[in-house]
Amino acid sequence: MIVIKSPVDLENLLLKSRVDNKKIGFVATMGALHGGHISLIERSKIENDTTVCSIFINPKQFNNSNDLENYPKPIENDLKLLTEVGTDIIFLPNYEDIYPETYIEPEINLYGLDNVLEGLIRPGHFKGVALVVKRLFDCVKPDIAYFGQKDYQQTLVIKEIVKQFNIPTEVAVCNILRDENGLAMSSRNIRLNNEQREHASFIYNMLLQLKEDVKVLTIKDALIKAENVLLKEEGVQIDYLTIVNPQTLLPEESLTTENSSLALVVVNYFGVRLLDNIYI
Ligand code: AMP
Repeated sequence: MIVIKSPVDLENLLLKSRVDNKKIGFVATMGALHGGHISLIERSKIENDTTVCSIFINPKQFNNSNDLENYPKPIENDLKLLTEVGTDIIFLPNYEDIYPETYIEPEINLYGLDNVLEGLIRPGHFKGVALVVKRLFDCVKPDIAYFGQKDYQQTLVIKEIVKQFNIPTEVAVCNILRDENGLAMSSRNIRLNNEQREHASFIYNMLLQLKEDVKVLTIKDALIKAENVLLKEEGVQIDYLTIVNPQTLLPEESLTTENSSLALVVVNYFGVRLLDNIYI
């Protein structure tokens, strides 16, 4: 395992792999790693010759300075987990490496993808995601980059930048890894106490029930029922709960075939934002 901070050193190191026609897989993270991140690395290791994982907390995608300051940074444990899973290269740039003084922000048009759902609640977030992923792709030039379905809207944003800048990288969207009780793994889960974390299974259970309910109820009625289930829980505020077309993110009015729509939920549970989604 090699730890690299500078983009130039990274490029030099990867040059040999590229010349030898070796496939490069890439997993971008903000650290505070858990099983979900590790599952992306494991998949990359199977499908590529060299796997690069970056850890960079990107200030440009935080619209709340408190959230940025409080973002967990257990770097020693992250390096341990990355070593254990056999990551080839860990890219640990600092702010100036990613955004040097000479950096000029490219024009990026997200065609409204950034104005709905997460984008509505976190203005500027997806622009920040798009900028950092573009920079990271410039540094790593991966053949395949792996992202989690948990951040579904983000995967659409990344596919859009790949298209817009003609980036020769395949975007692989990976399954959501869950705790045994069904809670989607997230770096923010450590802010829940044990009891809350155990109890937070109600989110995934609600999604599973919703998937059943839309078979017998209208979307509207199924969503109202699901919302009531969430609101019965102590400490819950709903940011959104919706069923959308996975390509356009527009609300679905009716369902066609099974698994062709996506139910997305974000709840604030005792102050911790928990995201989840499921194909319906
Ligand atoms: P983050 O460090 O939160 O920016 O996440 C880095 C990558 O890991 C993103 O592509 C996430 O979608 C993905 N990821 C986060 N949580 C999970 C999970 N529970 N299962 C699978 N992938 C995940």
